Amino acid sequence: MLLTTVAGSLPKPSWLATPQMLWAPWRQTGAALAEAQADATMLAVRLQRMAGIDIPSDGEQARQHFVHGFLAGVDGIDFENKVTMGIRNNRYDAQVPQVIGALRRKGPVHSMEARAARAATKGKVKFTLPGPMTIVDTIADRHYGDRVKMAMAFADLLNEEARELEAIGIDTVQFDEPAFNVFTDEVLDWGIPALLRAAKGLECTTAVHVCYGYGIKANIDWKKSLGSEWRQYERIFPELAKSAIGQVSLECANSKVPIEFLGLLKGKDVLVGCIDVASESAETPEEVAATIRRAMKYVPPERLFPCTNCGMAPMSRELAYAKLAALSAGAALVRKSP
Ligand code: ZN
Repeated sequence: MLLTTVAGSLPKPSWLATPQMLWAPWRQTGAALAEAQADATMLAVRLQRMAGIDIPSDGEQARQHFVHGFLAGVDGIDFENKVTMGIRNNRYDAQVPQVIGALRRKGPVHSMEARAARAATKGKVKFTLPGPMTIVDTIADRHYGDRVKMAMAFADLLNEEARELEAIGIDTVQFDEPAFNVFTDEVLDWGIPALLRAAKGLECTTAVHVCYGYGIKANIDWKKSLGSEWRQYERIFPELAKSAIGQVSLECANSKVPIEFLGLLKGKDVLVGCIDVASESAETPEEVAATIRRAMKYVPPERLFPCTNCGMAPMSRELAYAKLAALSAGAALVRKSP
């Protein structure tokens, strides 16, 4: 019980990409880049295991960004002519590619690094994909003219990809949907239906990660504007609890999410964020243990997976792995004395 895991991305080594930035440029090209991405993936899995993480992720070492990494393997998207678009309801501007034709995968997008991650541990391993709603919110549309139609088209491609990941031996496929906390009406109308379409027919563990974003300034400012209680999950969780998705990953460390909302996820595995991805120092094991104990009032220990709040891509490697060591040490404390 209390198996530890991570939300998704991890910092890349400086020989692979420029450190401590989002959309970091690669430092290799061609065959050397692919080799470096596979090596970094195996290393990320091993470093997570060495930090005591029970269910490591691929660390998203082979993609420049958690959304655009998948899109780079899809036909019908123009990456040459990016446009500036306000994303997450205009919280911040991003340079995004444009959908200019019917969407189709060019082939397996993430198989290479999924195989590398699979080979790096005999234990369980998870792999993250962007969810359809978050993709739609991180790309400009010049073709479909309808967000829902485009989301369903992406869901079909994600489903093809997820089935391949499952066949490679990935134990958990997680879809990342930070947009769920922004468009809470649309989530119920088409966000969750698109998510379920992406996960359809999977026999491995399925998960959805819903969060308040990376530890970048725009997100920290947004959180300050959300008031004394963050109630976004309150609308989404009852619907996710009824759905076929097996696990829900959320943000609990240093967040203003009322902890009783965890009780809305009865019957699901809950990945409880115990690590703040916006702070400059590692949590102590005792702080992690305190977050786990708060969550245990609402989630039985066999369904509770101590986790990070969000991805850690823009962080220093040293800090990220120190935080993961604190996460596993905190879980060990609670196992010893609940
Ligand atoms: Zn997140």
